[in-house]
Amino acid sequence: MYKSFLIKYGEIAIKGKNRYLFEEALVRQIRYALAYVDGVFEVRRLQGRIYVDALEDYDCDEVMEALSHVFGIIGICPVVLAEDRGFDALAQDVIAYMDAAYPDKNKTFKVHARRARKNYPMDSMELNAALGEKLLETFPELKVDVHHPDILLCVEIREKINIYSTEIPGPGGMPVGTNGRAMLLLSGGIDSPVAGYMIAKRGVAIDAVYFHAPPYTSERAKQKVVDLARIVSRYAGPIRLHVVNFTDIQLYIYEQCPHAELTIIMRRYMMKIAEHFAERDNCLGLVTGESIGQVASQTMQSLAATNAVCTLPVYRPLIGFDKKEIIQVSEKIDAYETSILPFEDCCTIFVAKHPVTKPNIRVIERSEQKLSEKIDALVQAAIETEETILVEAGEE
Ligand code: ATP
Ligand code: MG
Repeated sequence: MYKSFLIKYGEIAIKGKNRYLFEEALVRQIRYALAYVDGVFEVRRLQGRIYVDALEDYDCDEVMEALSHVFGIIGICPVVLAEDRGFDALAQDVIAYMDAAYPDKNKTFKVHARRARKNYPMDSMELNAALGEKLLETFPELKVDVHHPDILLCVEIREKINIYSTEIPGPGGMPVGTNGRAMLLLSGGIDSPVAGYMIAKRGVAIDAVYFHAPPYTSERAKQKVVDLARIVSRYAGPIRLHVVNFTDIQLYIYEQCPHAELTIIMRRYMMKIAEHFAERDNCLGLVTGESIGQVASQTMQSLAATNAVCTLPVYRPLIGFDKKEIIQVSEKIDAYETSILPFEDCCTIFVAKHPVTKPNIRVIERSEQKLSEKIDALVQAAIETEETILVEAGEE
């Protein structure tokens, strides 16, 4: 029965000229999400509102599912849009709406009318009373409850009359693209896809970099990261995924440096290379899935040591999360099943038995001097042989 959806979004966050940018980005992201749903949809802005119109038959659950991935949406209201043909016609439309939407009339209701157009001949109080009366006459089982109605029937007098009574919660956040772009260090684990999701929720578009180490890591491990990027891209929009061959760098570090420091030194080179791509792609920061104390390479000292090589800010949206909380989000965004597939990512191959947990930056820098002969050329080669994959939602 619904051909349109009214999209509600958080207006508190948008003032002045930001409003236009916010709405533009929201419309773009809604179109992106609906591109993969069967049917033809039009997304339009009208008088400070966003409507989605279905121009063909569609599956309501699919539309809801798609829209639940669009940050910035607070609520989705399936709406009937009626022409203004006077009060009697409106009463008929409202009666028809109730009849179709609620086959069981044993319910309480309240009419909530609003005039966005003040030239309408009745004011909202009059409309509430008159429409309520018509409904009670037509459906004697209905009862009015002004405090806790089962059905809050909204009737808004706009260019067209909007009739709706349900609001499905949206994901909140801000539309992707309203807060710049960041480079996500994306591995095949549980944490970094969640970190990407969380930064995207604040309106940040993302690109990603994945370090693999063939033949120590398999093609399948790389595919898993592409799959995770695709899951994140349902929320974050298209992601340019840079796949960097890290094998030679890793082997060289393994040869030259104390094994206890391997992870930290590797992580520092990952950050440096990620920063290179970030600057090239106009990213304003790096994003990782680290959380304090989760593993040896994520103590405060280790985080300081990895941070020290970057000039861009490093965002760690999971910094205060327990693993359990991260897993909850991972499950919510449908990444968990993919994340726990058992393909090695490059760090698990070269892990030391007793990694340093409190690295001293000076000591690490001294160890890195042992790399001076070849490391610049290896980093350069890794950057030059990078493969970029454009990952978008929907395609398999
Ligand atoms: P994740 O679940 O994200 O893999 P983790 O708990 O396994 O995280 P680490 O392996 O210590 O933690 O990695 C910490 C962070 O470093 C990751 O969240 C990710 O942002 C980045 N990272 C680690 N390995 C890679 C990799 N191979 N490619 C890209 N980024 C990586
Ligand atoms: Mg990992």
